[in-house]
Amino acid sequence: MSQLPRVVILATGGTIAGASANPASSARYQAATVPVTTLLAAVPALQSVARVEAEQVAQVDSKDMVFSLWSTLAARVQYWSVQPDVAGIVITHGTDTLEETAMFLQLTQACPVPVVLTAAMRPSTSLSADGPLNLLDAVRVAAHPDACGKGVLVVLNQQIHAARDVVKAHTSAVDAFVSVPCGPLGFVQDELVRIARAPVRSGMAPLPVPQHWPDVEIIASYAQPGRIVVDALVGAGVRGLVIAAAGNGSVHETLVAALRDAVAAGVAVVRSSRTGAGHVAIPPVVDPVCGTFVSAADLNPYKARVLLLLALAQDPGLASDPERLQGLFASS
Ligand code: ASP
Repeated sequence: MSQLPRVVILATGGTIAGASANPASSARYQAATVPVTTLLAAVPALQSVARVEAEQVAQVDSKDMVFSLWSTLAARVQYWSVQPDVAGIVITHGTDTLEETAMFLQLTQACPVPVVLTAAMRPSTSLSADGPLNLLDAVRVAAHPDACGKGVLVVLNQQIHAARDVVKAHTSAVDAFVSVPCGPLGFVQDELVRIARAPVRSGMAPLPVPQHWPDVEIIASYAQPGRIVVDALVGAGVRGLVIAAAGNGSVHETLVAALRDAVAAGVAVVRSSRTGAGHVAIPPVVDPVCGTFVSAADLNPYKARVLLLLALAQDPGLASDPERLQGLFASS
């Protein structure tokens, strides 16, 4: 009989590793307390899917995600993905910032083997905890040959999402994760792993993991905003600003004035949309009002920030070259 595939689990914490004294509560618990060995022991079915081994990379609530952990995670992914008989890697993570970590890994990793993030909306001690099945499904996907070459994947609630597209869209439901604009790539139903299509865009060469991370912040456009936040950030030396703009990238005139000054001071300004779906129109760079405010295309503000962070870290000159920066967002 042939050997089962070898799958490595990198555990980082989150609600999937959460515990509560009250199994009837899904909302009151401590995230990131249960060790990965205990999580694996709760899913005996894993033994018939893969030869699983685990590494506790961190134990954090992902609301507190930091760049140093992203760098560590990237290094562990790089290490394991070139070990001779590793078929795939699963990362257990909190749901709060999962879409940002997934985007970071998508943009920085070559992924010679499948890299699959999973999480849970309910703690491990909860009635109807969703973590065990999500973990089993993630291992099934990581071990599946069809998952190769699909970039970083996210598996929750029996769905397989592309890292670039997936977002958390509900505070507590187990089907909190959705993919905009085209839906998930596929699904898992027991042993059946079906990946129906390739990710929408995945042709970009990996960007380096930064040694030094530039300051890149997110601000929003809404009724009667002040310019105090933009001015304060520029004064503090911010290198990039992502605007959670209204509608199709519309920015309040007060902010436009402040942001023009920011651009003049050498800050990269990228317009995303606060709507949650759709593509921010890319104006010609000569546009008198927002030509120098790059469009994030269809990336939400959080994902756009990840790309801007990595882009400015690699090439600070992009801040004064909106045409080239726009090209990066258009092709990412
Ligand atoms: N705060 C938790 C985390 O992101 C939430 C979760 O995992 O569902 O780590």
